[in-house]
Amino acid sequence: MADPTPEQLDLLLQLQATDSRIRKLRHQLNDLPEQQQLDAASARVTELEREHDDIRIELDRVGAQQRQLEREVSVLVERRDAERSRLYDGSVANARELKAVEAEVDTTDRRINDHEEQLLTVMEQVEALEEQAAGLDEAAEMTRDRVGELTTERDDAAKGLLVELAELDATRTRQSVQLPDELLERYEQVAARTGGAAVGQLEGNTCTACRIELSRADVGDLLAGPPLTSCPECRRLLVVPA
Ligand SMILES: [Zn+2]
Repeated sequence: MADPTPEQLDLLLQLQATDSRIRKLRHQLNDLPEQQQLDAASARVTELEREHDDIRIELDRVGAQQRQLEREVSVLVERRDAERSRLYDGSVANARELKAVEAEVDTTDRRINDHEEQLLTVMEQVEALEEQAAGLDEAAEMTRDRVGELTTERDDAAKGLLVELAELDATRTRQSVQLPDELLERYEQVAARTGGAAVGQLEGNTCTACRIELSRADVGDLLAGPPLTSCPECRRLLVVPA
């Protein structure tokens, strides 16, 4: 690759300055108290929705239990009634057999009572869970309203910063299209690696990106070398003055 022209290097440093301002602005946006409150409220909504889902799953389980018990009770009631009618319809004449049928009726009655007690417990659970679900629903609804309000507050607080950010984005586009693809690509790669500044300038004996003082020998090598190289300390791109 041919050495970049001084104009291209200038542009590269300008692009770096734009990106630094964009990064700073994004931080400011994230640090807005309104943004933090909004993030917290949004997280709370998600949490409430998850809790609500858990309750619904539990309700499905307990509801199935309730229906099962109700079915069993109705089968038992039917059986008991059939047994009981045998006591009076004259179909059983033998006294010993009558006693046996009576005992069966008693046994079935006890089972019905047991089932009904269980059913009562399960119905109380259903009621408690439904109350919880309704409470969570209400809390989520209120928090969602709050998210709406906070979004407006955040937008108001961020308005100035967002206008500035849009301007910087436009500047960035204008600057980057003027750079040769290869140079822009190198810049983007380093930026992606460092997550921050991608290019520094040799000022005296320091790189402006890492601020590490370079040895006299390094500086001598850099001054004798190409106008764009890598900082021997931080490996970022380094613009060396002519
Ligand atoms: Zn450096």
